[in-house]
Amino acid sequence: MHSNNNNRWCLVVHGGAGKYRLLAQGICSPQTYLKGIEEALQAGAHILQQGGPAIDAVVQAITAMENNPIFNAGRGSVLTQAGHVEMDACLMDGKSQQVGSVAAVRRIANPIQLAQKVLYNTEHVLLCADGAEAFAQTQGIPLIDPQTLITPPRQQEIHQHATPEEWGTVGAVALDQHGNLCAGTSSGGLAGKHPGRIGDSAIAGASTYAQNHACAVSTTGIGEYFQRLCTAFHICLLYTQGMSIEEAVQTAFHQIEQLGGRGGLIAIDHQGNYFWIKNTPYMARGVITPDHQHITLH
Ligand code: ASP
Repeated sequence: MHSNNNNRWCLVVHGGAGKYRLLAQGICSPQTYLKGIEEALQAGAHILQQGGPAIDAVVQAITAMENNPIFNAGRGSVLTQAGHVEMDACLMDGKSQQVGSVAAVRRIANPIQLAQKVLYNTEHVLLCADGAEAFAQTQGIPLIDPQTLITPPRQQEIHQHATPEEWGTVGAVALDQHGNLCAGTSSGGLAGKHPGRIGDSAIAGASTYAQNHACAVSTTGIGEYFQRLCTAFHICLLYTQGMSIEEAVQTAFHQIEQLGGRGGLIAIDHQGNYFWIKNTPYMARGVITPDHQHITLH
């Protein structure tokens, strides 16, 4: 477990657990991923260091990764069997315990921003597909040409039989100066997924969970396992029952592994202690606090 002794603010982000085919093919270097993580950390840290809310830090950090085509979220999302982008995102505010999620959206540049609108401006938790996109228009979020989200490497993957564990998802967890926790996750889902398949990245309690005075969690990996085990909620429950953040993560992730699941996750508690875990070759990730920054890929 990593401690954050100053107990002020902390942001942890991940760029997905997987095999990172772009690395293997030499299309992207490790530095490209580390830089993408650093940009996400900076986007969120900028808000936290000024005393801004954890929810805004999480949304800005994830927005930076959605806009970066090396990550499987927003532009650069993987494609379904039918060759479309269908994206999921979830945001949970630890203070209010409110959730905003979107699923299977195709024409949204930043699904995490739409999830934030669902959280703030509806009575609902999750909007999907056409209904979510119609809601976006009422919120001033433009519908874009879905082709602009598709990058050449993703287009080629359709013919390369990418396995589900090639990529990842992006996510962030934050603790702000006021003690509020937030978690968010955004994803293009699994490469070659069935059209209409909704992953854990849209589901509060599976990929994403935040509760003030406890912890915040964001997962990545083969989402069906995290959905079946309600992993993000489970970690929070174990924490409230007395486990440390490290013990809670290890216990819940062990259950994922027992079912044969692959992936990883990041978690932070209300004291700013954080822990991350994975069982894939890579998970780009990083942490930033007022006096510390650490970024890693392996
Ligand atoms: N968890 C995501 C999903 O299953 C994908 C990933 O993180 O690799 O949709």
